[in-house]
Amino acid sequence: MNKKDFTELINKIFEQNGLSDLLNEEKSEKFYKLSSILIETNKLFNLTAITDEKGIILKHFADSVTIARLIPEHSTLIDVGCGAGFPSLPIAIVRNDVKITSLDSTAKKINFINSTAKELELDNIVAITARAEDFAKTNREKFDVSTSRAVARLNILDELCLPLTKKNGLFIAMKSSRGEEEYNEAKNGISKLGANLLQISSITLKNDDESLDREIYVFKKHSATPVQYPRNYSQICKKPL
Ligand code: SAM
Repeated sequence: MNKKDFTELINKIFEQNGLSDLLNEEKSEKFYKLSSILIETNKLFNLTAITDEKGIILKHFADSVTIARLIPEHSTLIDVGCGAGFPSLPIAIVRNDVKITSLDSTAKKINFINSTAKELELDNIVAITARAEDFAKTNREKFDVSTSRAVARLNILDELCLPLTKKNGLFIAMKSSRGEEEYNEAKNGISKLGANLLQISSITLKNDDESLDREIYVFKKHSATPVQYPRNYSQICKKPL
């Protein structure tokens, strides 16, 4: 797709979803470059199952930036299990005041993010290869905001994200429409980890031919996470808090 058609399409989809204020010409051009790099790189190795511009704009770009307005100004943010950079790369484009760390255990995805950030001239994002539970040993309570999309159920994700989150910081969990079920399963653990529910936003993302239900759970960290957390990954999964 050429740049003109892409620009029209992203403007239309962002407008349909009340996200237009996050776009301008420069940001739209970065999204065009990101989409082209994603499609080309995906031919060489598998980064995403979504391979057409319309799907990428809705399911990766618009979905990722639904949390943009929830992030306080000039925050540090960690994206746990970022994969090919979602939500972190789109957030880096629309919020250049936010300093982003993208974390994933798979090196090839992290290399993709670092080289793409360079091409897009994004100097507010750095990607690191590590498991979240290991990274927390040396980066405990370092980030104003932690976020994550499509990585694990909330009762596992909480133990990966909250130890990395500063006291008084936010943990923003991006969920599909079954968030309430996951929240009920996780709420005791979230409290043990030092946080409580601040707000839930329900969103329906749409373009001309499909609509997707999303829920964003925002937790506020009110006290330090006890030092015994995070446990190792097999314990986290075997016995969620
Ligand atoms: N967040 C991206 C998205 O929404 O497109 C990627 C989602 S992908 C389904 C899940 C990613 O989480 C994988 O890339 C995997 O390597 C990563 N992951 C799972 N557990 C992790 C952990 N404990 N620490 C770091 N990364 C992890």
